[in-house]
Amino acid sequence: MNCENLIQFLSSSPTAWHAVDTVKNTLTENGYAELKESEKWQIEPCGKYFVRRNDSSLIAFEIPEKGFAPFMAAAAHTDSPSFRIKPHPEMKGSGAVRINTEGYGGMLCHPWFDRPLSCAGRIMVKTENGFESRLFKSEQDLFMIPSLAIHMNRGVNENTSLNKQKDLMPLFAMESKEEIKLYDVIAKEAGIKSEDIIDSDLLLYVREEPRVWGAKKEFISGPHLDDLYCAWGLTNGMIAADNSNAIKVLALFDNEEVGSLTKQGAYSTFFYDTLKRISISMGKDEEDFLMALAESFLVSADNAHAVHPNYPEKIDPTNQPKINSGIVIKFNGNQKYTSDAFSASVMRSVCEKAGVPVQEFVNRSDMAGGSTLGNLSNVQVSLNAVDIGLAQLAMHSCYETAGVQDGEYLVNAMKCYYGSAIRKNGNRIELL
Ligand code: ZN
Repeated sequence: MNCENLIQFLSSSPTAWHAVDTVKNTLTENGYAELKESEKWQIEPCGKYFVRRNDSSLIAFEIPEKGFAPFMAAAAHTDSPSFRIKPHPEMKGSGAVRINTEGYGGMLCHPWFDRPLSCAGRIMVKTENGFESRLFKSEQDLFMIPSLAIHMNRGVNENTSLNKQKDLMPLFAMESKEEIKLYDVIAKEAGIKSEDIIDSDLLLYVREEPRVWGAKKEFISGPHLDDLYCAWGLTNGMIAADNSNAIKVLALFDNEEVGSLTKQGAYSTFFYDTLKRISISMGKDEEDFLMALAESFLVSADNAHAVHPNYPEKIDPTNQPKINSGIVIKFNGNQKYTSDAFSASVMRSVCEKAGVPVQEFVNRSDMAGGSTLGNLSNVQVSLNAVDIGLAQLAMHSCYETAGVQDGEYLVNAMKCYYGSAIRKNGNRIELL
């Protein structure tokens, strides 16, 4: 697979707001029109649309020629663990100025040391009659979190615990006569006055670009592969899909890494509101909507753990996903994942049709594992659903590793999925 487009996607998406903007541009180039939640929707057969909430979540959909129909939906998330810059971030001490941050999501802390870092997000900029929200991505190497030398920390390789308020404060400047303020640096780069920044949502991001590597160039490493690799695969799969008899839906949610309990998260009303409004604006009643939901389907796509060759004992004894070995279907006895025999069979059939291999992930029975979008979004809109992902290593590191071939598998599987519809006839399922 040529990774240029994926690398471009990852590097232009250092935050959820940027990821949504990147997808928005791709959709616009492919004929999707933006709808606003605050305006009436005019939806036509064969129309392609998208709607954003908080500029950090996005739902796109495409209506088939025959008009209103069941939904073939797929979801991924736009956010990743990082460090959020606090208000009044400058911390002076020992002749240096550091930046005060707090954790966003459950990150691996140690990969953040000794890497050039910068910040990105959105800033609220004063205008004549109010303010406007602007995307901001600094293109400068602004910060570094230097390690403590081994001579001062002899036990570091045996046992390390890291304190986010002490060990992980990024270095920004050495103190000088002139006051050093982060907003001054940002305002200069954004071409505005620092006093015009009313507020901001800024997160750290690593400056190192994604790269393809390995003896056979089969690996891709970079920031935010969880879950932008899936967001990228779903978006490209939907765009490439043939016409079908279902409404294609792509849902990209923010805040998965902090539990999805926000107005724009998978647990919010965003997904339900959007599906319901499609139904309303196409003149359908409540029963039509519920009938459509009964034949709808959701693919919840969030990356899966690959077996780590240094730690093979950490994965289930009989289900060991490998990088570049295909789509991973995720199962969980306690139903943290939505996959069951029915929904997994739908996904297996889609992958078989697309010529894409399938593998399985389950937690070891003595390990709790993570959670994801599908089961939360299913509380708001209950659909038959399956949890899938791409096998990756170093999940929640700021520089993660996955397989190049798997990206192509995901695009091909999603292209086939979005080009299909499900018909239920008693207990017989047909994939059309
Ligand atoms: Zn994820």
